[in-house]
Amino acid sequence: MDKQADKTPQRRRHPEWIRAHLAHTERSGSVRGVLAAHGLHTVCQEARCPNRGECWDAGAATFLILGDTCTRNCRYCSVAHAAPGPPDPGEPHRVAQAARDLGCHYVVVTSVTRDDLPDGGAEHFAQVVQTLRAAISGVRVELLVPDFLGEEHAALIVADSQPTVLGHNIETVRRLFPDVRPAGNYDRSLNLLRMWKRERPALTIKSGLMVGLGETRAEITQALCDLRAAGVDIVTVGQYLQPSRDCVPIERYMHPDEFQDIQAQALAMGFSAAVCGPLVRSSYHAEDAANAARQDNTNS
Ligand code: SF4
Repeated sequence: MDKQADKTPQRRRHPEWIRAHLAHTERSGSVRGVLAAHGLHTVCQEARCPNRGECWDAGAATFLILGDTCTRNCRYCSVAHAAPGPPDPGEPHRVAQAARDLGCHYVVVTSVTRDDLPDGGAEHFAQVVQTLRAAISGVRVELLVPDFLGEEHAALIVADSQPTVLGHNIETVRRLFPDVRPAGNYDRSLNLLRMWKRERPALTIKSGLMVGLGETRAEITQALCDLRAAGVDIVTVGQYLQPSRDCVPIERYMHPDEFQDIQAQALAMGFSAAVCGPLVRSSYHAEDAANAARQDNTNS
């Protein structure tokens, strides 16, 4: 197959290298039960992530806090767009209990975007980190947060909760950003990442990119350069898979060989860890990426 020319039309079968790991195992069933018992959401479910079977079978789930409806309406995302309720003060404890029930020692937490809250939900994130640390000895926590509308004060609240990894996804290249993330801004996202590294240089910073939305390889390279220049340590690159009919269609499927090229390119640029592949999502094998970054920092 010509890997450059594969433009599978919308809603057609995925190419053979896209493998959905949605098989229900005993372990993934128990993860579902724990999440339901604690009344928690995950991005695994809300974003219809294709890795649920694999991740949940390994006991890894990414908690989605601050509700399951979003104040933004990004065109690649299937999370419902509606006015969310106030933050639930019991949620940090339920996340900690669920993580303990699941036997997690590396916990990934993300949220919907809460532009309605004065701090964008930053204090709630910090409470989740604090509560997890109190509940699980030695736990490591990765936060994947929104852009806080560029508010430095809010962004530093999450930084000062001292997560193991602090992430914010750029998601797409500069040219496509206004179309697929109309309420966001490419430079605002870059500035957030840059500010964290400048103000809290000991933090491990992460960002991620989706491909297959119509970007060129040169644009991907430029986005990687921008992220590295902003001080990002860990980068993820994965194939966009239209999660619902209302979302922007897939423009192109990238061949696994191209992901390998991009991963090598990212590591050559100086990222401490790069996780690139068709089914990679920002939280995919997150602990392994954090360990790779820690090892890289130890060696340098
Ligand atoms: S990659 Fe992340 S969002 Fe997807 S199933 Fe795994 S933990 Fe959940």
